Amino acid sequence: MKQQLIRAKLLHFPTASAQPDTDVVWYRDGAIVVSEDKIVAIGEFATIRRNYPDARLRDYSQYWVMPGLIDSHLHFPQTEMLACYGEQLLNWLEQYTFPTERRFEDKTYAEAMAGVFLRQLFKNGTTTGLVYPTVHSTSVDALFTAATDINMAMITGKVCMDTNSPENLSDTPQIAAAESERLIQKWHNKGRNLYALTPRFAPTSSREQLAVLGELASQYEDVFIQTHLSENKKEIAWVNSLFPERNGYLDVYDHYGLVRPRAVFGHCVHLTDNEWQRMAEAQATIAFCPTSNLFLGSGLFPIQRAREYNVPVTLATDVGAGTTFNLFRTYGEGYKVCQLQQQRLSPLEGLYLITQGAACAHQLSHSIGNLNPGTYADFIVVEPRFCELTEHRLKSQETPEDVLFALAMLSDDRAIIETWVAGKPQYKRQEKY
Ligand SMILES: [Zn+2]
Repeated sequence: MKQQLIRAKLLHFPTASAQPDTDVVWYRDGAIVVSEDKIVAIGEFATIRRNYPDARLRDYSQYWVMPGLIDSHLHFPQTEMLACYGEQLLNWLEQYTFPTERRFEDKTYAEAMAGVFLRQLFKNGTTTGLVYPTVHSTSVDALFTAATDINMAMITGKVCMDTNSPENLSDTPQIAAAESERLIQKWHNKGRNLYALTPRFAPTSSREQLAVLGELASQYEDVFIQTHLSENKKEIAWVNSLFPERNGYLDVYDHYGLVRPRAVFGHCVHLTDNEWQRMAEAQATIAFCPTSNLFLGSGLFPIQRAREYNVPVTLATDVGAGTTFNLFRTYGEGYKVCQLQQQRLSPLEGLYLITQGAACAHQLSHSIGNLNPGTYADFIVVEPRFCELTEHRLKSQETPEDVLFALAMLSDDRAIIETWVAGKPQYKRQEKY
């Protein structure tokens, strides 16, 4: 296939950064070259055009191209239950989540919903997700199959829960171990797929189940681990009563070998000093989910502490307790959560946390999260001035900060024109606003 030259305003973070505000790289008139599924060059348009005279030009010079976004925590089966009214975490699980998740045992249903789910991701510019399916292996197969069909980087794995969960949504330690291992062998590192061991959260896994998952985590060192941690105070009290022998919530996971790099903990709103320390030592990752924390009234994530302790943080939607698939808006809510605590979260740091910062936390920056040559051509084409209001807001200046903050506060999926995955457009906006 002929090489493609994408001309646009470019914005990305080429390296790991503790200072996104100064380490950002952008081009007012830039270009990337896509060959097959990878980016092979980036630079000023004039230079790139000279070096690649035969590449097919796609002119997006009025628009911005950024890396495809990475959502580090969301629930595939909860796509259809966004915006269910009015409960806190534990009742919300009982009342809405568990009944919905039962449907995913059915292969046809799971496959149909995988299509819906991926379309929502792409419409919002997300090209990689750390995704919770359900306890059923059918839901894992449905997601990996849909992702494989389009060469997308998918990170997911069977949810494990064997206690304090409805009978028809429960497995056992033996089933969790056998199915997780079978699915690792079937999917992990096959194409762009990556497996994540997925105990839902400590209250729904027995000691035996956590132990077998810990064994798999040590046996398969590069698989991900994803779970929830310290989301809500009642939940923490419950964990303490279920595991009185452990020194707090994180120590439950730690005891079973589930705290390490590539372990991604959703929420972490109420960590203790010891837990912050331990997260830093282990270089485990936090997925900060502001819309979900506000929706369920869980609390305000203190991002400043993560910076002080040097714990890797990403931003994530946590759909369906989160209220949008849109990571720019999710950053906007994260900004407000920080405002309430007199803490700072700049637009550039926001973009970093949903692109290169997430890729670095997940040890994937060689392949996603930036526009560097050698990475997969996963990127988005963004029209920040998509409507009358944003046209006016951005008419006098269009710096990266202005653009990102307008995307966070005034925008939605209408600003995403195209989403490319592995060198092919998987989503094109139909209407012009
Ligand atoms: Zn969650």
